[in-house]
Amino acid sequence: MELERWLNSAVSAIEEWQRSFGDYRQHDSLEVTDEEFGPAFEELISRLAGNYPFFHPSYAGQMLKPPHAVAVVGYLAAMLINPNNHALDGGPVTGPMEKEVVAQLAAMFGFEPHLGHLTTSGTIANLEALYVARELHKGRGIAYSAEAHYTHSRMCGVLGISGTAVGVDSRGRMDVAQLESLLAHGEIGTVVATAGTTGLGAIDPVHEILAVARRHGVRVHVDAAYGGFFTLLAGQDGPAGLDPAPWLAIRDCDSVVVDPHKHGLQPYGCGAVIFADPAVGRFYVHDSPYTYFTSSELHLGEISLECSRAGASAAALWLTLRLLPLTPDGLGQVLGAGRRAALDWAARLELSEVLRLYQQPELDIVSYYPAQPSLAAIDAASEAILKRGMTAPSEPVFVSTLRVSADAFVRRHPDMTIDADGARILRSVLMKPESETYVSMLHSRLEELARA
Ligand SMILES: *Cc1c(COP(=O)(O)O)cnc(C)c1O
Repeated sequence: MELERWLNSAVSAIEEWQRSFGDYRQHDSLEVTDEEFGPAFEELISRLAGNYPFFHPSYAGQMLKPPHAVAVVGYLAAMLINPNNHALDGGPVTGPMEKEVVAQLAAMFGFEPHLGHLTTSGTIANLEALYVARELHKGRGIAYSAEAHYTHSRMCGVLGISGTAVGVDSRGRMDVAQLESLLAHGEIGTVVATAGTTGLGAIDPVHEILAVARRHGVRVHVDAAYGGFFTLLAGQDGPAGLDPAPWLAIRDCDSVVVDPHKHGLQPYGCGAVIFADPAVGRFYVHDSPYTYFTSSELHLGEISLECSRAGASAAALWLTLRLLPLTPDGLGQVLGAGRRAALDWAARLELSEVLRLYQQPELDIVSYYPAQPSLAAIDAASEAILKRGMTAPSEPVFVSTLRVSADAFVRRHPDMTIDADGARILRSVLMKPESETYVSMLHSRLEELARA
């Protein structure tokens, strides 16, 4: 599809719809002429050129990429109207669309009845899940792994509940034995299992965590903000297929968070939280004088901690899922390509003389480090590669660094000389399917940088 053509169509279609309400004249105070706009626009465009090329496969750093053109057009069309999904009257069209996409996300995880909504981010989605956790188990705390997203401990602080970090195994997954002894004390009400850690893409053993938690009457929340859409690859044949056990267990957990603005091709401002028990809606009930209810059903503003939310986010996701549905053959193909790219790069790293694989990728994150004799040398070389890569005068390459502790490092590579308490290693998120055909280029560029 041609983005420019459909953007223009979106603008004309919405203007035509606006004209159907009869003539009106925009107020003078809002007037901006083309002569005024031109230079300001040029300044914006020239400042935007200072970005890293998130769209290009040479950008293999953080979890960043532009939204799909379908989402851009869907977002723009709805944004020209600017509905607010805090209430059905604010988003009479995009509110129902939000319910439809949330039902599709819930079905992807195997939740039958459910209650959920879109959020501004994964952080807010997790905050909602922890808020419900607190309300259901007053006085009991939250457990998450030491590799869980940093916002869990921060949100526990916000909610005034205690958060406990559980250790991880040699692949960065929650240590279930350690969890079991923690739960035996009876002070934890909810465990957060991370299905795809942000640093390494490690998948906590959700099925084992669930079994342990249930034995102790503890709830399980799954933070799949980054990894959630990989459930589409669970049990699939071929190299991209994933062990289905942790993914299938999500259906029996209490809540799940997934970020359509990470792996769902959406612009920022789109997370989602889904609860298995619709009755948790009771914790959200409020009586704001500003929300005007037209339905007796709990509406979106009544099941969300946030008030205003962009209806355009729901429209963009709705349109995207119509064209790239939540199936192995739909969005699954996009994730599969990134996963194969990660496996391909890992195989190349294992043969490299100048770079070493830090650990086998579980999803689409590759972790590696310069072949140096000690931790301090690895740290310095990682930083140099990162800097030299992005400032290379021709064909720059963009990666990210990840700080790992000395302990985590030796668990994976026992022979390393430890002369520091940790080191930055290199990390690449291959979340663009185009990476698959670009891996050999990335690998040789990184090898060149490591040799220099
Ligand atoms: C990104 C991420 C978050 C936070 O989500 P935001 O949308 O950035 O607020 C939480 N948990 C995990 C596992 C993540 O990867």
